[in-house]
Amino acid sequence: MRSFDVVVIGGGPAGEVAAGRLGDAGLEVALVEQHLVGGECSFYACMPSKALLRPAEVLREVRRIPGAAEAVTGDLDVVAALDRRDEIIHHLDDSGQLPWLDERGIVLFRSHGVIAGEKRVTAGDEEFEARRAVILGSGTGASMPPIEGLREAEPWTNREATTTKEVPARTVIMGGGVVGCELAQAYQSLGSRVTLVEGERRLLPTEEAFACAQVTEALEKLGVDVRTGRKAASVKREDERIVVTLDDGSTADCGQLVATLGRTPNTTDVGLESVGLEPKGYLDVDEHMQVPGHPWLYAIGDVNGRALFTHMGKYQARIAVDHILGKETATRHGADGRQAPRVVFTDPQVAAVGHTTASAEKAGLAVRVVETETSGNAGGSYYGRGAPGTAQILVDPRRGVIVGATFTGAEVADFIHAATIAIVGEVPVERLRHAVPSFPTRSELWLQLLERYED
Ligand SMILES: Cc1cc2nc3c(=O)[nH]c(=O)nc-3n(C[C@H](O)[C@H](O)[C@H](O)COP(=O)(O)OP(=O)(O)OC[C@H]3O[C@@H](n4cnc5c(N)ncnc54)[C@H](O)[C@@H]3O)c2cc1C
Repeated sequence: MRSFDVVVIGGGPAGEVAAGRLGDAGLEVALVEQHLVGGECSFYACMPSKALLRPAEVLREVRRIPGAAEAVTGDLDVVAALDRRDEIIHHLDDSGQLPWLDERGIVLFRSHGVIAGEKRVTAGDEEFEARRAVILGSGTGASMPPIEGLREAEPWTNREATTTKEVPARTVIMGGGVVGCELAQAYQSLGSRVTLVEGERRLLPTEEAFACAQVTEALEKLGVDVRTGRKAASVKREDERIVVTLDDGSTADCGQLVATLGRTPNTTDVGLESVGLEPKGYLDVDEHMQVPGHPWLYAIGDVNGRALFTHMGKYQARIAVDHILGKETATRHGADGRQAPRVVFTDPQVAAVGHTTASAEKAGLAVRVVETETSGNAGGSYYGRGAPGTAQILVDPRRGVIVGATFTGAEVADFIHAATIAIVGEVPVERLRHAVPSFPTRSELWLQLLERYED
């Protein structure tokens, strides 16, 4: 049996960061990855989906700007866009990652890792002892709810949808959350005729209603057939054609069905039962990312279900590693909870952190809602005309701090970090007044928001 200080199962962004930091600290680390080092994010999720969206996003923005718009005479080059996506996902080859592991002395085992008892892991024929800890970062897979005929129709999940070499002529996307909205816009922009089906009354149901309305309008303007408030009742494949029947009796047909119906944690086949844990559902963790009752076992990233984002998995990796190294550390202020920063990379983008008006109300917070136009200032003059955009903050007047922010508009993703600092740092609004944004930048929206709040 080989012995390591720490055995990490799963080399997605969470597991990779954990292994890297432990290696940097001089610990002996084994990383067990059954597929590609870099995980879902690098090859089938964040990276390729943004690569598919970006060319059309840039083109639309340029077409909104007089002077530049006139220079655009051609259409989007779909082949070039897919080639660029392939470059970004390194043609599904993770060899570029391996020197980084080597430099840190991390030993990679390309195998399915299974917990085989306390501080024990097997990976194929190998068996390891983890002297200090086992870190589980096995992530999630696409959910496939029991809709009649769905499995038999062999829908694409995010994996096939983000790595396709050809854009289907007609696509039905089931699920209007973040992944469904992003793929709908990418596919429609790349030439597919997309129907987007969402059972809830609106797309992006957990974000602000105005954000959802602006994204829905943009998708419809592009030609996406958005059908909300109707659930798929059954799916039938007839040779090359797939027909989805909705619960109001209407149908949508396509050559390719894509299911973006949520995520299921990879906890069924990782040996949790060997240490008395239930092998299903998200794995519960405490503020150090330790599994309660099993101080040697940590679960980081999507597998613990706290906040299904790459940045949060990496944050949790840092917390777990610091704890293993004996540092006093814990997640704070619900930083990796449901109100973590999040971006929907559609055009318009939706960037949000902290509460929405609905979640604040649910939490019993009487917030003041302050709004302005994202581009309603001098800096906005340089961005495309006619692109919708709203900036909103929610202030808790009792404490004088911001508890939620949502920005929509062209390229607003980077705005969200200022709001994250204000919220997580609980910076008093009266102090924020003295954080002066440069002229002429769209960040002057902060001035407008704070002035409106004070007025
Ligand atoms: C289409 C799409 C777009 C997304 N876009 C964004 C985005 O823009 N920004 C963002 O922050 N988040 C985004 N996400 C979410 C993001 O992909 C995940 O939050 C992130 O990948 C989670 O990282 P992880 O390390 O926990 O798990 P994963 O990335 O899922 O990695 C888990 C790894 O563990 C391996 N594994 C699993 N079980 C075992 C085992 N038993 N033995 C060995 N190896 C195992 C898997 O092969 C995989 O490599 C997106 C998700 C999707 C589906």
